[in-house]
Amino acid sequence: MIKRILIANRGEIAARIIRSCKRLGITTVAVYSDADRNAPYIAQADHACLIGPPEAASSYLDANKLIDAAKRFQAEAIHPGYGFLSENAEFADLCAKNGLIFIGPSPQTIRVMGSKIEAKYLAAKAGVPMIPGYFGSDQSDATLARASEEIGVPLLIKASAGGGGRGMRLVEDLADFNEALALARAESQAAFGDNRVLLERYIGEPRHIEVQLLGDQHGNLVHLFERECSIQRNYQKVIEEAPAAHLPEQTRQCLFDYALHLGNAMHYDSTGTVEFILDNKSGEVFFLEMNTRLQVEHPVTEAVTGLDLVALQIHVASGEPLPVSQQQITLSGWAIEARLNAEDPAQGYQPQTGTLEVYTEPSNEGVRVDSGVVQGSIITPYYDSMIAKVIAHGPDRSTATQRLSAALLDLSLVGVGTNAPFLRDILEHKHFSDQPLTTQFIEHAFPQGWQPHLPDIQVTPVAAAAAWLLKLEGWHSEVKSSKTATSPWQSLGPWRLIRRAGHEEKTSLVLEQNDGSTTTVEMHGVGGRYTTVCGADKLPIQVAALDGDDLAVEIDGRYRRYQVHFDEQTISLSHDGHGYKYRILTPQEVHLRSEDEAASGGSSVFAPMPGLVAEVNVSSEDRVAAGDIVIVLESMKLLQNLTAPRDGVVKSVRCEAGNTVDSGALLVEIEENTGDT
Ligand code: ADP
Ligand code: ADP
Ligand code: MG
Repeated sequence: MIKRILIANRGEIAARIIRSCKRLGITTVAVYSDADRNAPYIAQADHACLIGPPEAASSYLDANKLIDAAKRFQAEAIHPGYGFLSENAEFADLCAKNGLIFIGPSPQTIRVMGSKIEAKYLAAKAGVPMIPGYFGSDQSDATLARASEEIGVPLLIKASAGGGGRGMRLVEDLADFNEALALARAESQAAFGDNRVLLERYIGEPRHIEVQLLGDQHGNLVHLFERECSIQRNYQKVIEEAPAAHLPEQTRQCLFDYALHLGNAMHYDSTGTVEFILDNKSGEVFFLEMNTRLQVEHPVTEAVTGLDLVALQIHVASGEPLPVSQQQITLSGWAIEARLNAEDPAQGYQPQTGTLEVYTEPSNEGVRVDSGVVQGSIITPYYDSMIAKVIAHGPDRSTATQRLSAALLDLSLVGVGTNAPFLRDILEHKHFSDQPLTTQFIEHAFPQGWQPHLPDIQVTPVAAAAAWLLKLEGWHSEVKSSKTATSPWQSLGPWRLIRRAGHEEKTSLVLEQNDGSTTTVEMHGVGGRYTTVCGADKLPIQVAALDGDDLAVEIDGRYRRYQVHFDEQTISLSHDGHGYKYRILTPQEVHLRSEDEAASGGSSVFAPMPGLVAEVNVSSEDRVAAGDIVIVLESMKLLQNLTAPRDGVVKSVRCEAGNTVDSGALLVEIEENTGDT
């Protein structure tokens, strides 16, 4: 067995590989670029080696530096993870030349499968159905143009060496073919150093279904069932699951057979994935490509089979026979994975960068989180935007879906925008459960493009309300953080709200803008994690006080950093050079306003929020002075003193201690004192 492995990768997959190595008693060498100096996987590894500047070309893609590091630390093998050099045959060759085991298939296998053209020849020979198209070696303009006419539109031009969804172009009108071809060739040459292309008929309602293979060097090859990865954006996977839903058993068996035929034809001896496209209209399946590496979405297969794919991959790379037979591999329950990306799904999935000011992972039942970050991690622009994968497993698909959705809600992350709300909306979409998925799911589910639930204009008042509440809580819970005493987050606010344990927390604040208009924000929760009720949507918001007077806010996947200033009853926030100011109405003012609106002559005490009457300090006929506490209202974890808005006499008491009252309920009527003094 291999004793020491160098991991030629970073982030979540480096951490993932280290976990299996620890279980196997293998020591690990991590490599890192300048941008990853503080990445958690470095501390998890037994050894770590700086390999260069942030740019991948001079660090994670620099084969010689990786080989040197492996030799220096006396590693026997290199695990390439996914992406980077994982499907680079020259790198696998270089490993072999230097006496290092490349954890993956042979350079020859990588080379053949790395070319979509060559892979198709092999798959066709193994009897796997091909998408109608052209994958010949004659790459002349005339031949390709002729082929395009035969195939018809819509068609896809694909880079033979392409990957990660890059180098693909959709042609919907043959008149555009020549131009698209030139662009595809140029793109492919720039990205992959190879300008060969293939043409494929564009499948109308495609489903992406793939089969996980595992082989050894003794001729054994098994499949580990299928995964469905149809939820995609820009031809890249977003949500993956195992097994596939709405898939006829006969088709499934067919896919296993095709994958095994192809694997056996090439004596496949590692983990690998055969990708298929299923035409949802006709039910036909076609070969797409083979990935000769560990796949991003391997955890869903691990969840349903109970196997450790990384451990098995290392095992077979050491030359050991597969420890499991096909009969021993069984499928249990359902697993779904969501890729949590630092990106803005409302703005063309634009990558987001920043510091994770707050980051805690959910620990719900059946949930696994594979991440490459911790609180304080910096998301740089140098690498992939994926920061974590959240995987939920359950006895059936609906349980797995619910668990995943809940876990995404429970994951707390402030400091960089993510696609978390987008992922939840996909999982909660009706058609996610009641129809076969297709790669057009996102387009169909969000025809205008996905948009956050809270309109931009409402973000700031909600942020202000949350900041106000956080400050009140900070004072009352007497949390003395490392922040300086001058921090605005520790000074006393004008309200008297006291948190109490044992109740659900809920509060509502009324914010007044400069023009006198008001916004009411209702919030549930404590400690900077609140749910705001906004129309029909319940929206989570997270706020965290940063050094000085800065506030980090995450809402709807969007991240903003505000400078906050409190002054008696006003709160000012600034963001991106824009300033906002709100006055928070006191409960009295809220009552007075509702009175004014009701044009009622008397001065009464109303419940500013739903709650429990904790104390009634007055009875009918009592004289009261403005500011006297007449009612103590317990609104979940908050105790609030409701005071007489003016001098007078209690006309009626409309509640008793122990009553539950609604927001706006009349509690005590006070009238002007007209009697003798
Ligand atoms: P999977 O098929 O395992 O889900 P993806 O196709 O999403 O994986 O790609 C896995 C990772 O590798 C992603 O980070 C992707 O950007 C990257 N990747 C895949 N192929 C290439 C390639 N040929 N060149 C550069 N990056 C790639
Ligand atoms: P990559 O190497 O970038 O992963 P693939 O050939 O695996 O390239 O295709 C990636 C995705 O593009 C597929 O999962 C599918 O959604 C889409 N796709 C590929 N070929 C076709 C096709 N012929 N018709 C429709 N969609 C396709
Ligand atoms: Mg693919």
